[in-house]
Formats: sequence, C-alpha cells, structure tokens
Amino acid sequence: MCRYNDLKESRERAAAHVKWCEEQANRAKATKLYMEAITGLATDWRDRDPGKYHPVWFFVKEFDATICPNRGTNTVTKCDGFWIASFADDPTQVVIGRPIEKSFWSSQAPPPTPVPLGKWKEVAEVDCPKCKHKAIVVGCYEQTDDSAEGDTWELSIHSLCQECLTMSELARSWSDYRFCSFGKDGHLLG
Ligand SMILES: [Zn+2]
Repeated sequence: MCRYNDLKESRERAAAHVKWCEEQANRAKATKLYMEAITGLATDWRDRDPGKYHPVWFFVKEFDATICPNRGTNTVTKCDGFWIASFADDPTQVVIGRPIEKSFWSSQAPPPTPVPLGKWKEVAEVDCPKCKHKAIVVGCYEQTDDSAEGDTWELSIHSLCQECLTMSELARSWSDYRFCSFGKDGHLLG
C-alpha cells in the first residue's frame, strides 16, 4: 500500500542515502590515492622527468613548513626526499642509479643518475591526524597545470597511516616552474 503522506519522509531518506553513497565514493577515491602513493614509493625513482607526466611519490626524511596566511595552508620550506632500496621494485638497479638511455648521437650510454636512498629508520613520523597512531611522512611532486597561460608545479607532504589507511596533507607548495630536483644529496628544496 502506497503511503502518499510519507513522500516527504521518503525524499529525506533518499537524500540521506545519496549523502552516504557520496561519502563512500570519496572514501574510495582517497583510498585509491593511498594505494597509488605506496606503489609510487616503490617505482617512482625511475622517473626521467619527475612529476612531468604523473605524480612522483617518495619518502620524506626531514621537512619544514610554515603557515601561509593567504592560503590558510602550510607551505613547504624544506623537504628531504628519498627512496628505500629494499622497498624499490628493482633493489639492485636503484642502488646503481636510474638508467639513462643512449642518445642517437653518442656511441655510449651515459652513466646512471644516482637515486637518493635512505633507510626505514630515517623516514619521518608524525601523529596521524585521523587516528593519532604514528604515521610515516611521504611527499608528492607533480605538474598540475600545463597551459599557454603558464605551468603549475606542486610539492605536497602527507602523513601515510598504516593503521587507518588514510593520508592527510601536512603542507603544500606551488610554483610556476620546476622547483624540485632529485639530486645526489636528495634535497628536493633549498
Ligand atoms: Zn591513522
């Protein structure tokens, strides 16, 4: 039997269900990014032009951030990033360095580019903002806008919690040109 008088109540229940579905979709999206970050921690040391074609993920040893009043967010002022050989998808090659392809003009391939490496105990830790357990600190570098009006490059630092499977952004910086390098000393900024 139809309950015509309850139509408004049905609408409210449907709206609550939509809200629940949207929250689940957002949660799934965030968890997918969490998985991509962990994959990147193993593979992104290979990137020939870090951040140009996809986000590059790395472990963070030390970082500093200052509060930026204009944006209401924390700005990265120091970020010491690296990869861990035993976690890399090719533990032997990562120690040798990122291979560089031989160019058309030269007869020999250039030597591999050194990859900044560190140990598990060097990974920075913070309290997870969501569940307060200890979480590791990871970084991400990517070009987020590539247009005639100008480019945008972003460096962001996140806690990655293995307890509640969430990442929380700790700080972010923007630039209209490449501002990170993955040099031998591993310093990404400054
Ligand atoms: Zn957590």
